[in-house]
Amino acid sequence: MYFYKNQFLSKNDIQLSPDDRGYYFGDGIYEVFRVYNGQIYEPQAHLQRLERTASEVRIALPYTASEIGDILTELVHKNKLVEGTVYLQITRGEAPRAHPFPAETEPVVLAYCSVVPRPVASIHKGIHAITLADIRWLRCDLKTLNLLPNVMAKQAALDHGVQEVVLHRDGIVTECSASNIMIIKDQVLYTHPANHLILHGITRAVVLKLALSLAITVQEETFTTEQLYQADEAFITGTTVEITPILQIDGKPIGAGAPGPLTQKLQSEFVHTFS
Ligand code: PMP
Repeated sequence: MYFYKNQFLSKNDIQLSPDDRGYYFGDGIYEVFRVYNGQIYEPQAHLQRLERTASEVRIALPYTASEIGDILTELVHKNKLVEGTVYLQITRGEAPRAHPFPAETEPVVLAYCSVVPRPVASIHKGIHAITLADIRWLRCDLKTLNLLPNVMAKQAALDHGVQEVVLHRDGIVTECSASNIMIIKDQVLYTHPANHLILHGITRAVVLKLALSLAITVQEETFTTEQLYQADEAFITGTTVEITPILQIDGKPIGAGAPGPLTQKLQSEFVHTFS
């Protein structure tokens, strides 16, 4: 069961318009929510981020945040989803192709559930990554549909036989293709500040809170690819990847080349936030 344009209906009954500005311009926004045990995880944080992105790109949300929360909860129930994700997309609407915002158009809402198990293998065994220039625009804090650079980056990783890319601007590490990145050096956790160059990840915020509760020193400061190579531990954070260790970067091991002790501590605390 999907939600599309104000109603619940089956996927086959959805009639998408070729005039949807999502197709022409990527003119829309989205969120991906995690569902654990049939419950949406951190719904308020996701809805606040959605509201902020909508306001920055000037899409008038057709529902309040709490109405959207109710719709998504109903969607999860209708689909009997226990463990997975909810994808929510809102485009500016349908209109013949022209750059200016159309005068009279309703935003188009699409939402659906997917069964997605927790990626326990990579959470425990870690992943390998390569570094790549971050060629995206300067509003990476907005969760918009314009994901071609992220798609290209992810494919570059797969083409290199690794799972993820670590993006950098002139040697300063920003984030990954679909996750944030943190490193540990001498017991201090470093991650890029939540400014316009990265998505302000919901998981990032949860992990920073957990780090503080574990008395780990947190520095929301930039670090370089060189510092990444020299880190004791590194991991990515995201709604679907949770906390996944990076064991190798550009073919070089990070720390001991195994999931580090602070990463593992954060991982076990993280599980308690939803179970
Ligand atoms: N950065 C990017 C570019 C992403 O696509 C994502 C995943 N949505 C994240 C970071 C992680 O954000 P979150 O923890 O909210 O999933």
